[in-house]
Order: sequence, then structure tokens, then C-alpha cells
Amino acid sequence: MNIIQLPSILPGDLDLAAINQQLRSGDTQLDWSAVVSAPDRELAVLFADMNIDTHAEAIGAEDSTMSESIVERVIKLLTKKTKKSPKIITKPVNKTFPAVWKQDSFIDNEYLPIQDRDNPAQTNLIKPQPKISPKYATKETQSEPETIKVLKIPSLYQIRQELEQSIFNDLLGPAGGEEEEVDELRVSDRYLVGLLAPQNRKVRPDELEESREQMDDLAVSGQGTTEDGTTETNIVPPADKMFPSSLGMTFCVSATTKALQVSASWGQYERVESKITFKDDGTTPKTVWKRQPIKGTSPPIILNPGTIPHWTIHPDYPNVFISGQIRRQGEDWIVTLFLVNAQQEPERLVDRAWLFQPEMSVQSAEPSNPGIFIQRFHRRANKIDPVVFAEAQAMAMIYRNQVEFAVGHGVGVRSVVIPDKPEYATRLSTQIIPTYEVPQTNAPTVEDLPKLAGLVLDMQQLAEADITLLPQMLASLITAYEHWITEQTARINDSASGLEDYQDTAQVAMDNCKQTLARIQKGIELLASDAKAAEAFQFMNRAMWQQRIHSIYSEQKRQGQQEVELADVDTRKNRTWRPFQVAFILLNLPSITDLEHPDRCHPTNAIADLLWFPTGGGKTEAYLGLTAYTIALRRLQGVIAGRSGESGVAVLMRYTLRLLTLQQFQRATALICACEEIRRQDEAKWGKEPFRIGLWVGQKTTPNRTEQSEEVLKQKLGQYQPTSSGSPHQLTNCPWCGTKIDPGKQHIKVDSFAKGQGRTLTYCGDALGRCLFTQKNSPTEGLPVVVVDEEIYRRLPTLLIATVDKFAQMPWNGQVQMLFGQVDGYCQRHGYRSPETDDSNSHPGRYGLPAATTLPKNPLRPPDLIIQDELHLISGPLGTLVGLYETAVDSLASWEVNGTLVRPKVIASTATIRQASDQVHNLFLRQVQVFPPQGLDVEDNFFSRQNLPSEEHPGRRYLGICATGRRLKAALIRVYVATLAASQHLYEKYGEIADPWMTLVGYFNSMRELGGTRR
Ligand SMILES: [Zn+2]
Ligand SMILES: [Zn+2]
Repeated sequence: MNIIQLPSILPGDLDLAAINQQLRSGDTQLDWSAVVSAPDRELAVLFADMNIDTHAEAIGAEDSTMSESIVERVIKLLTKKTKKSPKIITKPVNKTFPAVWKQDSFIDNEYLPIQDRDNPAQTNLIKPQPKISPKYATKETQSEPETIKVLKIPSLYQIRQELEQSIFNDLLGPAGGEEEEVDELRVSDRYLVGLLAPQNRKVRPDELEESREQMDDLAVSGQGTTEDGTTETNIVPPADKMFPSSLGMTFCVSATTKALQVSASWGQYERVESKITFKDDGTTPKTVWKRQPIKGTSPPIILNPGTIPHWTIHPDYPNVFISGQIRRQGEDWIVTLFLVNAQQEPERLVDRAWLFQPEMSVQSAEPSNPGIFIQRFHRRANKIDPVVFAEAQAMAMIYRNQVEFAVGHGVGVRSVVIPDKPEYATRLSTQIIPTYEVPQTNAPTVEDLPKLAGLVLDMQQLAEADITLLPQMLASLITAYEHWITEQTARINDSASGLEDYQDTAQVAMDNCKQTLARIQKGIELLASDAKAAEAFQFMNRAMWQQRIHSIYSEQKRQGQQEVELADVDTRKNRTWRPFQVAFILLNLPSITDLEHPDRCHPTNAIADLLWFPTGGGKTEAYLGLTAYTIALRRLQGVIAGRSGESGVAVLMRYTLRLLTLQQFQRATALICACEEIRRQDEAKWGKEPFRIGLWVGQKTTPNRTEQSEEVLKQKLGQYQPTSSGSPHQLTNCPWCGTKIDPGKQHIKVDSFAKGQGRTLTYCGDALGRCLFTQKNSPTEGLPVVVVDEEIYRRLPTLLIATVDKFAQMPWNGQVQMLFGQVDGYCQRHGYRSPETDDSNSHPGRYGLPAATTLPKNPLRPPDLIIQDELHLISGPLGTLVGLYETAVDSLASWEVNGTLVRPKVIASTATIRQASDQVHNLFLRQVQVFPPQGLDVEDNFFSRQNLPSEEHPGRRYLGICATGRRLKAALIRVYVATLAASQHLYEKYGEIADPWMTLVGYFNSMRELGGTRR
């Protein structure tokens, strides 16, 4: 036998092709011991046309001289080549690999139906049960060749379950099954969560090091802007002794219960010789941590007030026990249980005294009486404040079937409830990584509610219908909602609905629904009685229809789908309202239309309508609809009380700080483009003043002055040094047709105040000039967007998008008054003026422009509609300040018509309605009306219905990871790595279908946390 010594870096001076010949003839072996680097291309030459089955010995992968990383690559190379072969390929599993631990490689997931879920309704879920692959289960099976299987591609839902299980395995374990081996120095480094430290232990030097690093974080504070914020690390004490030694729960047990039975289990790791991993020589077993499952079930624990005597779970571990307390609560019992690790940490191999994957569960000791767990006692809501009390009662009512049975101490708790009696649970168990799936919320369809039949939700149909038919087209919304209210009201006295304790609250909820019904009805009646309202309603439908399809069309174009045509996306699905959107618009019509409507004008009881719908549910569309209606109506109503509605800001749309996204701006701009298209077709009806949208935000985002705009543009064209101000380049693509807007290609032009009209114009970049908003088709306006503050004051865009903090300008900048219609003149060249505006009364004809003078002007009609997005964020210190400015905003936007002081209509969106009435009163001095009003259950309020999480209706799944004793950064990295590794694995396994999980988005509470993670 000829042995060739390979050099440290292949190929060295060897002829690998020649060696390949020798290897294949079978009389040569390789000595890999010196090899450090073996590039894939060299390996390919060396092993050309060789097969791992027939040439195993010659390849030398079984020989210990080859390093593990090279072994892996050789196997990969050879299996990749052989995959081309049509015959069934088998490869022997070699005992020396995989020596590197690989996520998932030990586990096959098996999907089994399970019963124990927090929610009985979720019992149809299946939970993957990890089990050890047969190939690793015993040594004998290893010699069997593994066949490469053809995988069946699972559904997205199943892939997510698999991902979740992988994350569980990686962070909590045991990744390799109940009796896994961990080939790492410490098991406590292997798993992030689910560790109970021994009570008596020394702190490791590296933990001290970590706590010192955290102290350093404290030292580098300063430069504290609001964005930097504070981080939790600043208040957490040093990490020593931060690992918990116990976990527990407190729960309530019904009076009839005699005794409890507790079960507990954990993974005990001991240092042993491995049965499956070997040292480099291939024969000496490695020393590894071997897991042993420890389990125990207690004798009945009789319910008696006082301390529960320690119960030792397993005789081998006398200092691991369950302890607790039992107290009376009226007739019932309150029980607290703890699983305690009171062991002493040994001098070496400390992990032997740690508990991993600990779990504790409790159930009735009497099989005849299983449903013993009842709702945890809640302190009664304070009756002194009737509003807070009513709200607490309403919450308690709609969530009456979601019972909280226990509170965990340092751990989550999951409960198994009796399927048809959700107020009783049969078993409570701790859950180190608690999970919850927030159900999908969907709009009802005719299938759900047959009475909805006949309701027209197609924007095109509503826009083009004979105006007298509108009320009829919307009538079944009333019929169906009325029918639903009647049905629900009948349930109040039905014992099956469990409303005995909530009779008054249920009645109030139904009254609210009836009130909403009446308001929607009034909206429909208005369309029948007021021709201008009906016409504005049709304008809105047409504008929204065009907005929808152009938004979809331009987005597809932006993504590079050049072949798509506008007609392709003009389908009914893309231009259909959801019932709640139409209902919300209808109920607001009367108070927007009738300036003297008490819902709008009453000094204290005017109504602010609060739209409460989950994110992504279509709130923005509802606002945009009302926006389109308002701006159309102003044009139709003409001059009222000496003020023209043709010009001036009609709608103020406000976002919180930086929460305005480009997508929202794009969609709002698309709406204004649609309005502008309609106006240009009939200027006699809709007026000569173009519709425009303004973006009034901080100077870091958009320029304050036109000169700054010019500077930024020159800089983009490479002519100037960078400046610190924002950019006029806010739209990357035309919202109407999707064409890229490139300031470098003259798509943005600045016409200064000194030498021109003082405009920063953004043109659509369509070179063929087909789009309505190119320089060819719209030379003086371009896209109807105004982003420079100075130009916003002079041109007064119809729709103004602003951030709340921008209103702090009011006391400092006199020009802001113009946004509220306070103008006194109009310069023919530069637009509106106020006493605070710096402009001369006449301009001579220069620079190709005609001579211009300033004409006197009456004040304009102030904004009719104020839309506040994410209202719940306007609380705390920000809420206090916004509330102060809001008084001024309300006053500035109010005007007198026929002796009545007309206030602006306020609508807001929110994610939580808790104490909304207080908040709205403090901010806007208005009464709140929540839409949609709640019904009797959280699952159904007519306009939105929850679907129980299932394969067809997957919800948003949350995993809660609480890594006590770990540094924030370490925990974050481990969680990210677990998630990304698992998704990468799924991607390699199933391909494209796993792609949605290949993206990970991280959120940080502050800039400092973000910075700390980057270090
Ligand atoms: Zn365009
Ligand atoms: Zn001027």
C-alpha cells in the first residue's frame, strides 16, 4: 500500500489528477495529518469521479488524519456530485461525523394532536413532538445506510410550527431528546433559558466580568437625547446571583377540592463517556454531558391553610423539592407552589447541581373531580370612578371566557381547560417559553352574515351608480347590523351565554351598538337628502377606487414587474370596501357635512370618533375615504360666511413623531393624485385650485426653506457640499405609475422665491410622458406634493400630513396661522400671504414671468377634519404637551357660521381603547365614540370577527423569552441566531416556501440598546 503525505496547503507541488488515478486504482491511501487548507476546487480534482461508497477507504474520510471541517466538505462534495445519478443513493453514516453539533440534525419532528392548550378552542392545533432520529437512538442502527428521502413540502403553517420547535430546542432544549449528549464544556452555556441554579453557589469569574461590563455601560451615559433613551441594563443590578433557583405559580382552587397532586421534572446532566461521539482516533469515547430525565409525582397534598411540607421529587436529589403555601380566600383556596433547587454547588462540574428544562404541573388528586382550578381573584374595580368601573366591567364581560387561572413566578403558566366549560381548568403547568397566538381579525362576508346580501362595496359601482340609488345600495348594512343587534340582545338573558353577572354592562354595550346603527342610518339618509353630500360621496368612491388600483399598480411597477397593466389590477377585489370602512365613513358624514351639527360644534359634548381596529385591518383606507369626501364637499359648498372652501388646508392628518411611513405618504399622495385627475376633467365643478398634499415634518426630514431645497438638490447633482437639512426628494417613485423619481435626472426642480414662483416641483420620471404628472402633462405643478415648509404656508395644500411635534412651531412661527385659513392677501406669483409673510406687494415682470401684485383676500375656510393616528401614543408627557397645543389648534380651526362656532371634526385611530374617554377629553375636549362598538364577546362585534387560530386562519404567534441572569445582548444574539439558523435550515430543507422566515426584524427600545448590540 502506497501512502501519500499531503502538504499543508493543497495542492502544494503535487499533481492531484495523477493522485486521483492512483486512488481510483485502489492501491493508494492519503495522509491528511498536515493539511490545513484544502480548497474545494482542489478536492474536486483529487476526488474526481470517485464515489464515497466504493472508495471510502481511499478517500480517507474515516481516517482520523482528516480534520473534521475537511471531512464535512468532502462528504458534501461527493454527495453533491452523486445526486446527479438517477439510482437511489445511500451513504454510510460514519461514526466520526457529524462531530459538530447541528441544529435539528438529531431530531425528527412528528406532528401529533394535543389537548393541552391555554385555550380549548386551540385543541385542534398540532404540536410537533421532538423525537430522536432512529439513526441516533441506538448504536446498532448507525450501521444501516441512510437513504436520501424525498421530502414532502409542508404548508406554511407547518413550517412555522417546525421553526418554533427548532427555537425551543435551541434555546431551552433538550435538542437531542430526553437522553441527549451535550458535547460542550458547560450545559449552562448550551441553553439560554430554563436553568435553575443551585441556591448555594459561587459566581463564576466570567459572570463577574459581565457584570463589570454592565457597570461600564452605566459609565458611558450622557448625550441623552430622547432618542437615546435609557436602557434596562441601567437599572438591573450586576449579574452575580441573578440566576433564579426556583420557579413557581399561584392559583385559585375551588372550595370543593380536597387535595392536589403535583408533578415535577427536569433534565439532570452528568459527565460521562459518550456512546456516540469519539475523539479524533475514532475509538476513544469523548467525555460529554449526558442528560437523564428526572420525574416525580407527589402523594396527594391535602388542602389545609399553612405551609406545605417540602416534597422531595426524587430520592437521589434530596435538596430539590416542592414547597408552598395554602391560604383561604372566602370558601376557595389560594395556593402558591415553588420548585426549588436548594442544592450546594460542587467544586467542579458545577452543572451537575443545576436543573435544566424544569417543569412543574398540578392537578386534582381526585380523578372524579378534575376541574378544580377557577379564575384568579381580582381586586374589584374601583367603583368610585364610574367611568373606570364601567370600562373594567365591559372588559371583564367580553373576555369572560378567557380566564386567568394562575400567575407564574419567573415562568409562564399554561392551563388545560374543560372544553365546554372554559371557566374551569383541569391542569396547570409551568412553561419556560410561553406562547400565544393572536387570532386573525376579519371583516364579515355574506357567507358569515346572509343579511349583508345586496350591500354594494365596489367603489367603482358606487362611483358610477345613479345618485338616487346610493341609499338602496347601502341599505343592507343597516338591515344586517340591526338583525345582529337583535340577536345579540336576545342572548343577554340566555343562561348559555354566561352573562348573569354582566346584565347592565351587556345592555350598555347593546345601546352603544344601537346608537352607532342610528348614526350610520343618518349617514345614508343624508345621501338621499343632500345632493352635494351624495356627489361628494361619489367623488370619494371614484378617488379611492383610483387610489387603490394606482397604489397597487405603481408598487408592482416599482418592484420591476414591467409587463403589468393598470387594467390588470382594476379588479373588484382591489377596489372593494370592507363593511367597517363604509360604516365608519357613513356615520361621520352628517357631522362633516352639516357645519352646525351638534356632534361637531357642541363646546364640550362634540364627538371625536375613535377608530379601533387592528394594524393592517384597513384603518388608513377609512381615513383616506373621509379625507376625499371632505375635500370634495368643500369645493361643492363654495363660499360660506365669506370664507372660500376652494383653497386652504381642508384636512390635517397627524402622526406621532416618526411613525409616518413612506408607504402611508405614498398612499395619501396617490389619493390626491386621483382627486387631481377628477378635478382636471371638470374644473367648473371642482375648481381651478389644484389639490395638493403637504408633508409638514421636522427639518431633518424635509427642508424648511426653498433655498435649502435648492442646496440639497445641487448636492444631489454633485455640485455642492452636503448640508444637514432634509431633502425634497421624499417620493422615490411616482405614486400614480411607479416610475422612479431621480433628482439626478432633473425630476425635481427648484424655482426660487427670488427668481421665480418659489416652488420645489417633483415630476414623474416617465420618459414617454404618459403619466398625468410628468413635466409634459403637468408643467406648473408636477406631482401634487409640497414638502418645503415655506411653500406649504404659501400654497396651503388641501391635505396636510404633519407630525404632532411640528405644532410646537405655532408660537414661534407666525406663518403657521395660514394653515388655519388666516390669510390677508394673495401674491399672484408666490401664493397666499399673512401679516407675517415676507413678500413685496408687487413684482416686476422678470425672468420670463409676468408682473405680479398682491390681491387682498378674506380668510379661508379653516380645516374641517383633523385625523390623529395612533392616539394611544399621545399620552404621558407627550400627551400633556399635545393637549396644550391642541387648545390652540381647536381655537384656530374654529370659525363662526350663522352665529354658531364651528369646530373641526376630530377622528382618531387607536390600538387600545382603555381610558380613551379620559384621554380624548383631556386632549380634544370632546366625547369619545368608539367604532366599532364592542359586542358581548371579544370574538365578534359585527364589523370584525376573530377566527380561531388554525391552519386556514393562522394568527400572529408570539414566543416569550425571559433569560434571567443573561446579558441583554447575549440573550438577543442567542435568540437571533436560533431563529436565523432554524430558518436557514428550513430553507435548505424546503426551499422558497420557507423564505418568509429568512428575514428577521429586531426592535430596540432605545438608540443606546441598539448601539450596545452593535458593539
Ligand atoms: Zn407617474
Ligand atoms: Zn410675491
